[in-house]
Amino acid sequence: MTIALITGGNKGLGKAVAEQLGQQKITVILGSRDARRGEEAAADLRTNGLDAHTVALDVTDESTVQRAAEHIDQTFGVLDVLINNAGISGFRAGPPSQADMKTVREVFDTNFLGVITVTNAMLPLLRRSEAARIVNVSSRVGSLTRHADLTDYFARSPASSAYAPSKTALNMLTLQYAKELFSEGILVNAANPGAIATDFASAMGLKLDRTAADGARVIVKLATLGRDGSTGAVWDDDGRVPW
Ligand code: NDP
Repeated sequence: MTIALITGGNKGLGKAVAEQLGQQKITVILGSRDARRGEEAAADLRTNGLDAHTVALDVTDESTVQRAAEHIDQTFGVLDVLINNAGISGFRAGPPSQADMKTVREVFDTNFLGVITVTNAMLPLLRRSEAARIVNVSSRVGSLTRHADLTDYFARSPASSAYAPSKTALNMLTLQYAKELFSEGILVNAANPGAIATDFASAMGLKLDRTAADGARVIVKLATLGRDGSTGAVWDDDGRVPW
């Protein structure tokens, strides 16, 4: 039996990842900061025959993360896959010169520090797995290479004080975890799901055709890599992408 925890699993991309992992007979645990919303999402997946569970988990609250790890330990005794998906856009943070510092801190607390908190709490459980995989959900806007290309993102996207820097930092964190955990056989990668139609995007007024299910595919691929699979890389649907 393979067990996977997906943070922010109650909706959007996280729920779509849980659904696709569940369809591969993987037991999925939806981490949700609101227990009721998490249970509703898990119940929905169960109606389609999936083995779905939920655990209360706010990535910015270490005590809930620790309790979630204890719950998974007592219930399953092991974790094979960790998907660090929970994230916020903090689009109200504004450009660097006008940064709303409260929002910048919230974005880094969630998108970056939260990943360290959850990963470290789950590592003892992941170390009991024979083939542990960690996938950090990043974004195309986190790529330094793309931002440096004047014909691409640098020219078209607005300057960001919080979200893009948080995902760049997440990419580097992915590399550092991959380096540290390589000798233990734990593969750690980042995934760019592409711009997808979730609440995240609609809150910014974006109307997108790409679905959460479309975005989930690259994450699921990285979560189910074979032993000789990639580690320390950023991927999208087309393969490895530049840092
Ligand atoms: P949604 O807003 O639909 O979902 C975000 C999820 O994260 C929700 O379950 C939310 O919980 C959860 N979450 C937020 N903060 C916390 C927290 N402190 N603790 C636990 N859970 C939390 O967005 P998406 O599904 O689109 O986003 C998922 C990931 O994909 C994010 O990391 C985002 O940066 C990334 N991404 C999204 C893109 C897009 O176009 N949508 C593009 C590129 C990357 P709650 O329901 O309680 O708010």
